[in-house]
Amino acid sequence: MSEPKILLLGAPGAGKGTQSSNITDHYDVEHVTTGDALRANKDMQTEHGTPREYMDAGELVPDPVVNEIVEAALGDADGFVLDGYPRNLSQAEYLSDIADLDLVALLDVSKEELVDRLTGRRMDPETGDIYHTEFNMPDEEEVRDRLVQRDDDTEETVRERLRVFEENTQPVIDHYEETGDLVRIDGEQTPDEVWSDLKAEIEDAA
Ligand code: ADP
Ligand code: AMP
Repeated sequence: MSEPKILLLGAPGAGKGTQSSNITDHYDVEHVTTGDALRANKDMQTEHGTPREYMDAGELVPDPVVNEIVEAALGDADGFVLDGYPRNLSQAEYLSDIADLDLVALLDVSKEELVDRLTGRRMDPETGDIYHTEFNMPDEEEVRDRLVQRDDDTEETVRERLRVFEENTQPVIDHYEETGDLVRIDGEQTPDEVWSDLKAEIEDAA
């Protein structure tokens, strides 16, 4: 498949950003991620307030704001990996009206592991690369020195984000399971092993 349309589902910290980067490198598709788009526009005024008010509390940004971002991004893309959306059933319904998907894949990771992954996550502000204090640090000292932690990766906000995931996003996963579209991937393997399973599923969907 030259330009696959992939939906990557998973809890916060499941590895969606990490694997999306493998997908975009390998398949040369767009990475459409509502989290990054909202972080780049955190103080944008909308009729619902700013994204920051929701994000720093670990809550979902209102649907109209997010739906608009996704519709604009998908309209421009032939192939894509969609990461961080849909996060509730109403967004899933919206998505079904604006895009056809080749693969819906879930990165399956237990809750205990998610808290460790999120509180240890570090980002390179220059490249957007994702690291972890224990599992994956860059070799270059210069890169290590400039890593930052996301505002919402503190333990308290992480726990709220996982609660919001259970309440709002788990029903989205159940929905794709019921329609028979969901492919589960063991997200607790090493990043390379997860990528190998994911790539095999993408090839299968071709
Ligand atoms: P998400 O985009 O789903 O929130 P990330 O890709 O940002 O998740 O990953 C969350 C954290 O877990 C990061 O610190 C990342 O380095 C780490 N991570 C990602 N995949 C794995 C893995 N398979 N094993 C261990 N740590 C991982
Ligand atoms: P993420 O980078 O995917 O972990 O998202 C970070 C934060 O952005 C979330 O905790 C939400 O506040 C907001 N966000 C990202 N995607 C969505 C979405 N699809 N719907 C609502 N809020 C979102």
